[in-house]
Amino acid sequence: MGMREIKIYPDPVLRETCGKVTEFGSALKSLTTDMALTMYASSGIGLAASQIGVLERVAVVDVSAKQHERLIIINPEIVWTQGAIPSEEGCLSIPEFREIIQRKEHIVLQAQDEKGKDFELQASGILAICIQHEVDHLNGVLFIDHLSRLKRDFFKKWHRKQALEQNE
Ligand code: ZN
Repeated sequence: MGMREIKIYPDPVLRETCGKVTEFGSALKSLTTDMALTMYASSGIGLAASQIGVLERVAVVDVSAKQHERLIIINPEIVWTQGAIPSEEGCLSIPEFREIIQRKEHIVLQAQDEKGKDFELQASGILAICIQHEVDHLNGVLFIDHLSRLKRDFFKKWHRKQALEQNE
């Protein structure tokens, strides 16, 4: 299929919980290929399947400077966390809004690869942050949900203004 359309907040699909992947075949392969293509073309460092309207537990991540270290995570579970770190985040589904939230500094991730093989990954810093952001997406959670009430109100005002401007 190629490039997919990224769903933009407040599209309700972004609030859906994605279902477990059980088929590790060519359909999954073309989904992850399209997701990587879409992520790179949008200059993102991560993309979850629900962001293109596919409700499956699949995410693509690449936090490398040259974007050549693609990590595909299927049915990811964060099984251990430690520490806290402030993280300035944005989201391809919430264009032009960035804000600082708190994330776990270190994580252990259990997931499957495209062939259904289990793997475990220890991650820290930006990779840990990006994985947390994408796993949230698969549960219908957006980074703005982690904002303090004050900043959340600011976001809502900002978003209302954006929506009005687009309708002018
Ligand atoms: Zn996002």
